[in-house]
Amino acid sequence: VDSVFRTRSLGVAAEGLPDQYADGQAAKVWQLYIGDTKSRTQEYKSWVVSLLREQGVRKVLDVACGTGVDSIMLVEEGFNMMSVDASDKMLKYALKARWERRKEPAFDQWVIEEANWLTLAEDIQKPEDGFDAVICLGNSFAHLPDFKGDQSDQKLALQNIASMVRPGGIFIIDHRNYDYILETGRAPQGKNIYYKSDLTQDISTSVLWVNNKPHMITLDYTIQVSQATTQNLPEVSKFRLSYYPHRLESFKGLLYEAFHGKLEHSVYGDFKTYIPGQSQAPCYFIHVCKKKA
Ligand code: SAH
Repeated sequence: VDSVFRTRSLGVAAEGLPDQYADGQAAKVWQLYIGDTKSRTQEYKSWVVSLLREQGVRKVLDVACGTGVDSIMLVEEGFNMMSVDASDKMLKYALKARWERRKEPAFDQWVIEEANWLTLAEDIQKPEDGFDAVICLGNSFAHLPDFKGDQSDQKLALQNIASMVRPGGIFIIDHRNYDYILETGRAPQGKNIYYKSDLTQDISTSVLWVNNKPHMITLDYTIQVSQATTQNLPEVSKFRLSYYPHRLESFKGLLYEAFHGKLEHSVYGDFKTYIPGQSQAPCYFIHVCKKKA
């Protein structure tokens, strides 16, 4: 992928499946970018927590925990968490949070592992029936590129993730509104539903087309770090992340395939029921899949 176009920050190695966070730059400011872990927007938190409670969920697998922000929220809410991520640079913040709060029984029992979606079954121990819920949030899945040009890696990853859900359990996964980005060349201007950070940020958007198909979207983040002096960070932090532009309809198709058609599927736009063609374009689409028994 990198032969024509550089997909990640300079200095991030280009071997194998790229850990786009490997230089630690994004990981370092991530915690600041997303705001304090307590300040995940209330809307987001109550949506996820009430959905999980409604479904009687106890055991949750977070397959893209990053620095641990969603997982910490769910550990605090009393869910039994296993959290995994492929980037050790991101995981170290989650590990640190667990260590600092190890005296709290819920944190003492929080399981954190390094795992890759492409090898998930080998990387982690699945509970006998599977997890009551699996989450993959924060636009994470779109990090997986389409190296082979036939989406086979993405299909494998989704199948591996779906196999972790117990029959009757749910899977929650999101992606940015790439339909909108492809139509307009820009991310929707609405607020970021996940993050309540007070940092000034600028995101510039590039779209790479290959053989008349959108192949990759690159976002260049420039973050003004106001607490720079206290946090020992540069005042302006730049990092680049690249994503596969999943379109709503085709992503739905991938989900049906991953669950072998055995699912009840619903879509939300920024956590509200999504009505196709609605006037306000959502920033994010969130898919909820219930695995049929
Ligand atoms: N959910 C978190 C993290 C988002 S960042 C939040 O909202 O803040 C996306 C995460 O996906 C990164 O930590 C990255 O390492 C992880 N990731 C990308 N590709 C992956 C893969 N193939 N397997 C496991 N994790 C992956």
